[in-house]
Amino acid sequence: MKIKTMRTKVKTKTKTIGLLLLGCCMAFNSAQSLSQESKKIAVTIDDLPFTASTNKSLEEKTELTKKLLASLKKHNIEAVGFVNEEKLLVEGEADGHIAILKQWLEADMELGNHTFDHSGMHQTSLQDMKESVIKGRVVSEWLSEKYNKPYRYFRHPFTQTGNSVEEKAEFESFLKKQGLEVAPFTIEHTDYLFSCAYDRARLSVKKRASEDIAQIKQDYLQHLSDALDAFQTMSDELFARQVPQIWLIHANSINAETMDQQLELLKARGYEFITLEQAMQAPAYQIETAPSKRYGPSWLMRWAKQLKKELSVYGQPEPPEGVMAVYKELCQ
Ligand SMILES: [Zn+2]
Repeated sequence: MKIKTMRTKVKTKTKTIGLLLLGCCMAFNSAQSLSQESKKIAVTIDDLPFTASTNKSLEEKTELTKKLLASLKKHNIEAVGFVNEEKLLVEGEADGHIAILKQWLEADMELGNHTFDHSGMHQTSLQDMKESVIKGRVVSEWLSEKYNKPYRYFRHPFTQTGNSVEEKAEFESFLKKQGLEVAPFTIEHTDYLFSCAYDRARLSVKKRASEDIAQIKQDYLQHLSDALDAFQTMSDELFARQVPQIWLIHANSINAETMDQQLELLKARGYEFITLEQAMQAPAYQIETAPSKRYGPSWLMRWAKQLKKELSVYGQPEPPEGVMAVYKELCQ
């Protein structure tokens, strides 16, 4: 899961630079037109085998995974799925949960390391982080070898990359020795908030439950579109072009149910799907970034900070109030 990003923190900053933007209209307009250029995106999916805010049976998780993977396959996407192996250890169902990871590999996806127990660097000692990486690679690596797939990426839980320059460097050097490369991300759209509201609505016995579900799905797709507007603008303003984007989402119900529509939306906006390996070849991903400390925002934000560039927008817009309220009440 991702935690709330720097959005709240940067809101005030966005307001203060509002006036400056009036003088930048020309540049902004030409930046917008650049968004029509070829756009590329890699798909990365966290918290495998499956994450849900309500109890889901092994059968449900298996079925939803099948649906999610079928949509990815339909669009010829080779995604990387980041695993928390602790979630495999369900008494009497460990084999069944391992079988979910096999579904991913059989669909030609790759598995990556997301630590054993989803430890975030902000609150975990360096030693415990290292142990969680080692403990979290056993099954995924064994399976990847069986399916002749590489095992090479690490995604930081909460995308927290360390509390100090020294800690970040030491952890990254450890990852390198483990044969793992850090997987950054540039696009997120708080899918975990929508998934919470969606899971709850699915359990609801209210008469209007099916309308609520349809509304959540519609809001979710709209929110993806709004988030894409923001991250594309950030890329244009930073580099005067569209960097290959890396999309971070989670293995959850709402993505399983709407993946095909989300991918159609991306295609309609001119996106071509590429692998994480291809995306990371872009020079932008070589830019050094500061340790994130508590917040783990998009790499576009981290690059802006590093390059000391003011942007007109910082990250995705707030999700609808109703979705936020359900999350705060039931899932936080
Ligand atoms: Zn996660």
